[in-house]
Amino acid sequence: MNLPLINFGDLPPDGRNYSGEFRTDPFALPGKFDPAFVPPLRYDLNVRLDDGDVIVEGSVEARFMLQCSRCAAKLPWAVDLDPYFTCEAKEGDTLDLTAQIREDILLALPGYPRCEESNVEPQPCQTEGAFPPEGEFIPLTDETSGAPAQDVWKALDRLPPGGPGSAS
Ligand SMILES: [Zn+2]
Repeated sequence: MNLPLINFGDLPPDGRNYSGEFRTDPFALPGKFDPAFVPPLRYDLNVRLDDGDVIVEGSVEARFMLQCSRCAAKLPWAVDLDPYFTCEAKEGDTLDLTAQIREDILLALPGYPRCEESNVEPQPCQTEGAFPPEGEFIPLTDETSGAPAQDVWKALDRLPPGGPGSAS
C-alpha cells in the first residue's frame, strides 16, 4: 500500500486534502506475536507548504490485534492519531508519507498490552483463575532444612500425562 504521492507543484497555497483508506497490510510485521493489522487504515490529511517545510495535519486511524503480554490472548487495539501532525523537509518534487505514517502508528502501540487495557474491548485477563490457589502450590524446598522436598517428584507424577491441556 502507499498513500497518494504528494506532488508539490499541485499544492494550492492553503494546501490540499488527501483522504481515503487502504486494506492491504502496510505494516507486514513478520513475527507470530507481532501486532496484526485489521483493515482498513483510514487517513484524512491536509498537506501544505510552509517555506521549506511540508506541513501535514489531519487524522490517521488503524486497528490491530495485539497479544496480551500476560496470558497471550488476542486483544483488539485502536490507534487513533487525531490530531495527526508531521512536518517534513521539502526535498525534490514529491513526498511519499507512507513510511512516516506507518512508523507513527507503530510507535503509538503499547509495548506490553494486557487484555483489560484494550481501548476497544477490555476483557478480564485470562490469567485470572488460571493458576491454582496458593494452597495447592508444591513447595520446592523443605522449609526446615532447605533441602529439596522429596514430595516434589511424587507431585509431578500426579500431573496428567502430556501436561495440562492435553486431555480431550
Ligand atoms: Zn491477558
